[in-house]
Amino acid sequence: MSPAANFDHSKFEQKFRAGILGATGTVGQRLVQLLDGHPWFELTEVAASERSSGKQYSEAVKWHLDTPIPAAAAGLVVKDLDPTLDCDFVFSALDSSVAGPAEEEFARAGYPVVSNSKNHRMSPDVPLLIPEVNAAHLDAIPVQQKNRGYGSGFIVTNPNCSAAGLVLVLKPLADEFGLEKMFVVTMQAVSGAGYPGVPSLDILGNVVPFISGEEEKMEEEPQKLLGRWDGSRFVEAGLGISAHCNRVPVENGHLECLSVSLKKIATLCEVREALRNFTVSDELAALPTAVKNPVVVLDEENRPQPRRDVNAGNGMAAVVGRVRECPLLDVKLTLLSHNLLRGAAGAALLNAELLASRGFLSRSRVSASDVPSVVPVSQEIP
Ligand code: NAP
Repeated sequence: MSPAANFDHSKFEQKFRAGILGATGTVGQRLVQLLDGHPWFELTEVAASERSSGKQYSEAVKWHLDTPIPAAAAGLVVKDLDPTLDCDFVFSALDSSVAGPAEEEFARAGYPVVSNSKNHRMSPDVPLLIPEVNAAHLDAIPVQQKNRGYGSGFIVTNPNCSAAGLVLVLKPLADEFGLEKMFVVTMQAVSGAGYPGVPSLDILGNVVPFISGEEEKMEEEPQKLLGRWDGSRFVEAGLGISAHCNRVPVENGHLECLSVSLKKIATLCEVREALRNFTVSDELAALPTAVKNPVVVLDEENRPQPRRDVNAGNGMAAVVGRVRECPLLDVKLTLLSHNLLRGAAGAALLNAELLASRGFLSRSRVSASDVPSVVPVSQEIP
């Protein structure tokens, strides 16, 4: 996917230097691909486990994508997780077994950390961000820096890959009608489990009705995403949510069947219109990875389908179909989103673009080795 052409070339004098922690993994590779030719960011560092560090990226990675490894990344030497990387900020696509402390170390050393991992998503001072939904949650960053003595560093996260598509669809419904409760069943692609992921003999010709921790994330994360930052803490949205999560033999794209009850009575026509009319602000539309209408509504009775619709909006849109009455709640529909783009690498990239646009990234970040391990609250790092 190449970045959209809707950016302002003159916005930044120089590109921000990006590093990727976990650059060899499924999400890390997508980030490497998306950063190739990015108008605001250039990839200068890649890091991964001891298995990969010290090797050239092209040797360390088992590349899965259908475009070649970008030349700028192929020759980079993979580093370990020491927070002395030559970059202005890092994306984290680390396995959750290591992401928690590693991301904190980088933030403490002065790096903005834009994370895909679950570890800090529900922390009380960490924004769980979907720019089209809750950009105001970025106001939590100065509080996080103060609470943790982080200086110029901080952590921002993007949601679980299924929650990302769900909440994008819920946002216009929440704004127009209010939400009460919902019931959602997911059919999640195998790429959501990373590489090598689910063994082929477990998933071919099969459905696995359990994904560890997934239902909890689907029931918790929308509460924070659709809630508000009150200046000192996140206030949850207070929705009733019941989720069932299943792994299915699809390569990319999580399909979800949603039934929802609304606070205000709405016709199906009004629901479709609210979804279709969901348009982002001019500020967001100017971000290179943003799409103006992040929810696409299809009228065909057998859509959306992962194979046909997963790349809608360069993989950054949620695709909705089958909007109809629900005999138990009010409305039911089917939605689809790309787990690796809207649900991971594209989401992190969009978050980083919003951070850059709002002045949270700096080209002049001091060398990590010059930064004390704990920065006093009052001391600003230039
Ligand atoms: P993955 O394919 O298993 O990749 C994991 C990455 O973490 C690799 O680069 C690996 O490096 C690195 N790593 C593992 N152990 C390490 C260690 N001890 N020290 C340093 N690096 C280590 O996983 P993924 O699917 O890309 O997921 C990455 C993160 O994003 C996870 O936290 C996941 O939950 C989250 N996420 C994934 C998706 C998705 O759809 N896949 C969606 C949203 C969020 P080596 O190659 O050197 O082992």
